[in-house]
Amino acid sequence: MILLDGKSTSNQIKEEIAVETKQLVDKGMRAPHLAAILVGSNGASLTYVNAKVKACAKAGFESTLVNLSEEISEEKLLQEIENLNTNPEIDGFIVQLPLPKHIDEQKVLMAVNPDKDVDGFHPTNVGKMALNLPTFLPATPFGILELLERYKVETSGKHVVVIGRSHIVGSPMSILMSQKRTAGNSTVTITHSRTKNLKEITLQADIIVAALGIPEFLTADMVKEGVTVIDVGITRIADDTKKNGFRLAGDVHFESVSKKSNFITPVPGGVGPMTIAMLLKNTLLAAKRRS
Ligand code: NAD
Repeated sequence: MILLDGKSTSNQIKEEIAVETKQLVDKGMRAPHLAAILVGSNGASLTYVNAKVKACAKAGFESTLVNLSEEISEEKLLQEIENLNTNPEIDGFIVQLPLPKHIDEQKVLMAVNPDKDVDGFHPTNVGKMALNLPTFLPATPFGILELLERYKVETSGKHVVVIGRSHIVGSPMSILMSQKRTAGNSTVTITHSRTKNLKEITLQADIIVAALGIPEFLTADMVKEGVTVIDVGITRIADDTKKNGFRLAGDVHFESVSKKSNFITPVPGGVGPMTIAMLLKNTLLAAKRRS
């Protein structure tokens, strides 16, 4: 079993980005600048946004955190987005999800200028992604492609089973893996909460991407020998033995599934850190396009 180590791989990618950034800045370009809008103070969202800001500093990027009240109106939030859209100092920005219930998420994502949409969530960028045109790929699927490529996991002609059909992970992942690309050319089955006989399907999989958000859902009896497993899930589970009061659980029962796997990602330290590295990669791309 080979561990797909997202922590070390993402550090390597961040170093590569830092080197390229320094070269560009030495040539006179200003440093890439990423902004993040955070509405409210949800613990997990705060952790993710802080990690993104910290990663920017490491890569030599500028970053701006726009922290807004949980009670902000949709109109005011759309105004904040317009400010970032028109601010020439900002190359790219993200709106950290989830948003409070009174705000229409789709409306917000549609308001982001596609040229600054480094999360790749705007319909224009989703469309380009689906057509395999150059664009900002959504960071989590992008990070998974990068991990598969760097570890030279064979994907061509393989059967990939994606569990979950969200717009940010499952759906783009299934599209990308079916495309003609280095990590791609796969035969893809996308499954979801209405799928019948899921186990029959996962047992046929060469590669499984688990993105459903149910801790330790995928168990050893659901996978064949030699499978590659990508665990996207991150759920906080209360744990008094931890300083912060919780531990992170993936969607895969790692202990048993890893025994049957050729390649597997851990949680934490797998897909999560890769997501942040790819957000930086998209921001660097936005900055290069701007200049
Ligand atoms: P979501 O909650 O939007 O969607 C879950 C999907 O799982 C749905 O499409 C649903 O149909 C499917 N599903 C639910 N129960 C199922 C079942 N019993 N069998 C098959 N399919 C089932 O999911 P999301 O936003 O893609 O997030 C999924 C998980 O990934 C969460 O734990 C989330 O925290 C994590 N996540 C991690 C990263 C990262 O960077 N590592 C990024 C995004 C999301």
